[in-house]
Amino acid sequence: MARFNFNPGPAALPKSVLETAQKEFTNYDSTHMSVLELSHRSKSYEDIHFEAVKRLRSLLDIPEQYEVLFLQGGASQQFAMVPMNFLNSEQSASYIVSGSWSEKALKEAKSIGQAEIYASTKDTNYTKIPDVHSIQNINEKTAYVHLTSNNTIYGTQWRDFPETDTTPLIADMSSDILSRRFDVRSFSLFYAGAQKNLGPSGVTVVVADRQFLEKSRKDIPTIFSYQTHVEKHSLYHTPPTFSIYMLNLVLKWVEEQGGIDAIESLNKQKAEKLYDAIDHSNNFYKGHAEVASRSAMNVTFTLENKELEELFLQEAEEAGFSGLKGHRSVGGLRASLYNAVPLEAVNALCSFMDDFRHRHQ
Ligand code: PMP
Repeated sequence: MARFNFNPGPAALPKSVLETAQKEFTNYDSTHMSVLELSHRSKSYEDIHFEAVKRLRSLLDIPEQYEVLFLQGGASQQFAMVPMNFLNSEQSASYIVSGSWSEKALKEAKSIGQAEIYASTKDTNYTKIPDVHSIQNINEKTAYVHLTSNNTIYGTQWRDFPETDTTPLIADMSSDILSRRFDVRSFSLFYAGAQKNLGPSGVTVVVADRQFLEKSRKDIPTIFSYQTHVEKHSLYHTPPTFSIYMLNLVLKWVEEQGGIDAIESLNKQKAEKLYDAIDHSNNFYKGHAEVASRSAMNVTFTLENKELEELFLQEAEEAGFSGLKGHRSVGGLRASLYNAVPLEAVNALCSFMDDFRHRHQ
């Protein structure tokens, strides 16, 4: 039986990537060692490390004046590192709160300095993204504006990003990086934990404008300073070598798929197909997010008859579909359609949903 993985993260990885890793596992590139056993100072590892940087630069069209870093601690560590580096006592940081992850980012900023909510959609239970046009006239004392590009738990996603003029814009892109084209130059810094579209957990990608990085605070612990990692090319301490090796394989796979544009077009197709199944179900299934804010990565929905949700999950699991349980804070169901989830999986899920509806309507 086929197994279709809709996990929210860690999530599906391309089968061919897993097979390559398996093939190379005990003897990487004729070294007779596993990547796990290589020194991070060896040429073999450094080649992997810098190839991954190069690939990411090319896929996301990252300009020369931006640094690409591979750090640890997940996106959660970035919640703290951003204010540690960029929030000083004369300034305040503005957070656009569109879900639980933005709430967590704000909480960390408040533990470092002054931070406030610039806009929030909490009053609608995060069914939508704030109006992009409402983000304007930002106070010049604002250190930066922070947003979450895709809300993994609620299934909402920014279509267009706000223009913040001279105020630096920072984004947590953990759950939609590499899924669509965007202009890197709109951001002073963005970050993403790898475990959705980039590879396994363990590595966190940070991309930042060099001029912005130069403004970072110097009075913080070495390990949390972006400058430390810039100066040492993310080799200040032992990086998560195997995660970076896997990231490099995933990036190669994205290139082979035709790059970001091809991936984006397939992602659109997948999301449309599933939202269509929800919208044409006679209200048997109901989407959580407002249509204009719907995410192409995480499709959140409930069943009109809540009592059927447990049965849906049980039957889905038996039919080969994993990871469909919604996050505990929203309930219901969630299908995560990251890059490595094939259209075939979405087609199979839609058929299962139609069949389940016809049996229980
Ligand atoms: N931000 C977003 C949007 C997320 O989806 C997640 C994890 N699901 C996080 C932050 C936290 O990431 P990590 O577990 O890597 O710290």
